[in-house]
Amino acid sequence: MLHGQNLIGGQWRNSATVAQTFNPSNISEVVGEYAQASVADAEEAVACARKAQPAWARQNIQIRSDILHKAADLLFARATALATLLAREEGKTLKEAVGEVVRAAHCFQFYAAEALRHPGQWHNSLREGHNVIVSHEPVGVVTAITPWNFPIAIAAWKAAAALAYGNTVVLKPSEFAPGCAIRLGEILMGAGLSPGCFNIVMGNGALLGPTLIHGADALSFTGSTPTGRALLKIAAESMTKTQLELGGKNPFIVLDDADIDVAVAAAAQGTWGQTGQRCTGSERIIVTRGIHDAFVEKLVKAVASFTPGPALDPATVIGPVATRPQFEKNLAAIAAARAEGAELAHGGTPAEGHNEGLFLTPALFLNTTNDMQLNRHETFGPIGAVIKVADLDEAIAVANDCELALSSGIATTSLRSAERYRRESKAGMVMVNTPTAGLEYHVPFGGRPPSGVGGRETGSAAADFFTESKTSYINHGVI
Ligand code: ADP
Repeated sequence: MLHGQNLIGGQWRNSATVAQTFNPSNISEVVGEYAQASVADAEEAVACARKAQPAWARQNIQIRSDILHKAADLLFARATALATLLAREEGKTLKEAVGEVVRAAHCFQFYAAEALRHPGQWHNSLREGHNVIVSHEPVGVVTAITPWNFPIAIAAWKAAAALAYGNTVVLKPSEFAPGCAIRLGEILMGAGLSPGCFNIVMGNGALLGPTLIHGADALSFTGSTPTGRALLKIAAESMTKTQLELGGKNPFIVLDDADIDVAVAAAAQGTWGQTGQRCTGSERIIVTRGIHDAFVEKLVKAVASFTPGPALDPATVIGPVATRPQFEKNLAAIAAARAEGAELAHGGTPAEGHNEGLFLTPALFLNTTNDMQLNRHETFGPIGAVIKVADLDEAIAVANDCELALSSGIATTSLRSAERYRRESKAGMVMVNTPTAGLEYHVPFGGRPPSGVGGRETGSAAADFFTESKTSYINHGVI
């Protein structure tokens, strides 16, 4: 069992209380026991981050880059152990977990280079003898609040970017899966990061949130839409710069001219991969009538192949649902969908013979309409819903008839239809003939409000959030 402590000013600290996490593949197994930070601990973590920040901002960029590189190397070297912890605590399969740890390592590698490659601008001035420089400075102290579904990748892409641009960080991981954050803290300290540059406080978000947000210069949050709304209000009180990555109800359109096997593979992976626990998962599969019946026949076969099983079993295709509350929410969403007339074609029940874990058979609903509650609210589970439409016009209208606007996709062999959808989708990400989930680390990630607020994450786009620009006029007198 992992005994996790808070990391405050470079010291690992116990607290008066601890909380345990459980293996969702076998809920009788305790994975970790974690010190629960008090508000005073959170205050101290923010104060340590503030104290450490000026020296880190002034740090030679080669040294900054080297530390991030070293962290990437350590993540690669410890990938199997980290992935095993991740699979035990969060429930994703070992293969998915290795992919996530490697993603975290790549984020550190990428931002190690970005630390060296962060250009400003030089302009001629309209005034004689003047020029104008636009430079970029760190924001200061960044609070990162992260969810349980990608506990190391999301922590890594926030922390690596914040550190690369000269900020210091306080990380508040999800109470359901903080183990990887502890390991990331060990790695960053081992890579030579100075005390106070990266701090971890664990515990209840509602308790610690106001202190962590009011004390910081910036908040980068990934989580549910209701929590994001609450945090935006807290951040407004202190005018803390805020970036929110929230929910999705992502549409995947299948047109009559699609390559049916490509369409089925992309829809299935986008919907049930990673047990459906991705904000970019395909929750609405919108299919035009000419291909509908043939597509559905193949999709019913595909969903059956996403058999849930223990995360560490190499034969498992999808792991259990990560948490008990999420498991209950999924079952409630399935019951409500049936009650409103959606036709359950597969799954949607606790998996037989697996009473020791939170195993849910992947659900597929047919003959649903976009106004059903099933298609209005994010389920964040292994639950797909097919909506039959007449043509591309109706498909686009249905896809965009949704409050959330994170990711979206289309399967078609028509370049014209793909380009039309790419332009008309209101989502922040559009995927053609490939699943709605699964962006890479070197490109911008995010949606439009209310799915995303405050600018994109990952890639070079992160610099917009993690730096402030400064416009300087220089009267040099040379004409
Ligand atoms: P999820 O369903 O992914 O757990 P949440 O939005 O509830 O989504 O949680 C994401 C993160 O936000 C977690 O680290 C959680 O502890 C934190 N959190 C939840 N509620 C609050 C809150 N009121 N204030 C600050 N953080 C919160």
